[in-house]
Amino acid sequence: MITIQLKPKKEESLLRFHPWVFSGAIQKIEGQPAEGDLVEVIDNKRNFLAIGHYQIGSIAVRVVTFEKVPISLDFWKKKIQLAYAMRLSLGLVDEKLNNTFRLVHGECDSLPGLIVDVYAETAVMQAHSVGMHETREILAKAIVENVPQVKNVFYKSETTLPFNAPITPEDGYLIGKETTKLSAIENGLEFHVDWLRGQKTGFFVDQRENRSLLERYAKGKSVLNMFCYTGGFSVYALRGEAKLVHSVDSSAKAIQLTDKNVELNYPNDIRHKSYDEDAFKYLNNLHNIEQKYDLIILDPPAFAKHRDALRNALKGYKRLNAKAFEQIKPGGIVFTFSCSQVVSKEQFRLAVFSAAAESKRNVRILHQLSQPADHPINIYHPEGEYLKGLVLWVE
Ligand code: SAH
Repeated sequence: MITIQLKPKKEESLLRFHPWVFSGAIQKIEGQPAEGDLVEVIDNKRNFLAIGHYQIGSIAVRVVTFEKVPISLDFWKKKIQLAYAMRLSLGLVDEKLNNTFRLVHGECDSLPGLIVDVYAETAVMQAHSVGMHETREILAKAIVENVPQVKNVFYKSETTLPFNAPITPEDGYLIGKETTKLSAIENGLEFHVDWLRGQKTGFFVDQRENRSLLERYAKGKSVLNMFCYTGGFSVYALRGEAKLVHSVDSSAKAIQLTDKNVELNYPNDIRHKSYDEDAFKYLNNLHNIEQKYDLIILDPPAFAKHRDALRNALKGYKRLNAKAFEQIKPGGIVFTFSCSQVVSKEQFRLAVFSAAAESKRNVRILHQLSQPADHPINIYHPEGEYLKGLVLWVE
């Protein structure tokens, strides 16, 4: 195995189990690793530190183990077994009530660069590193062998792998085939998941708990689900006995998915309407009190995907939330989220605070939300915390 030696003192973060080696920490590479190769990381005195996948870029190595063990078929199997055992133990696997969960959440499951979401009989796998791309067949096998409900593994990495890597990934089934069973169950509700054409792996599993909380508050309320995508929050609001639910998304495809999911659970329910429109345009057009809502959900796409976009992202969150505060009925509730990894909890809260102050409404925080247990945060890798939300009472 090719060895990467670190500069003096640069081993400290690895000794604290942080799973990345930055290129600036490297003293010497003994050999010529290709992107995706397994490499051994050693300190300046040649002590073993970790084994990981080599990458070209500012993160040079993503650690797969801090132990000197063979990286065999069994090594990968064990990781999948551990990830599944945790989901099982958390009660997230239930044929009738919940067959939708994240099986692997990258660094948080000690599998950096790998995401796997399970939807009924199908696991959708997404590689973010060449190393995981090259391990895809072994991982797919380990998934079907260890997760009883999974029969098919769909690989979807054409857009997630580094674009300059010397590989040509193709999306498609690694195991099994397209199934007629395209719907998955989350908390007893049914959702059609389109992993072929949908965003990311096809469905946002990470809002499961937050959707449940919304269900508790929906009774008798008029609900606006802004940025609805597949209509997750809308279906929960309907089950929570909302008076009416309006779903808005600027993508026509998202509106089709929302309508389909509402139809699957609440056929011909006249309480629901969907609108293919831009969020700001929609909110600006609520002129009289009858048009306004008791409960608004704001779950936009990540406004900042990189650190350089942070300032503009914070402005965006402020503008969006200010609009919701301006438009919500007195005694209304806002569920507001940010899924941008580079925006911290504090920064997001400050953006929402500025929006509240600008609207001059009296705003109270009822809940502070985060990502669910199948998207755990590795305590040694705080960067893994990305979803934050606030539930607000607007007087
Ligand atoms: N709340 C969803 C996930 C939202 S993903 C869930 O629980 O699954 C973000 C969505 O915002 C996408 O569907 C995207 O089409 C939509 N979107 C992006 N920009 C928008 C805009 N300006 N106005 C309305 N919708 C927008």
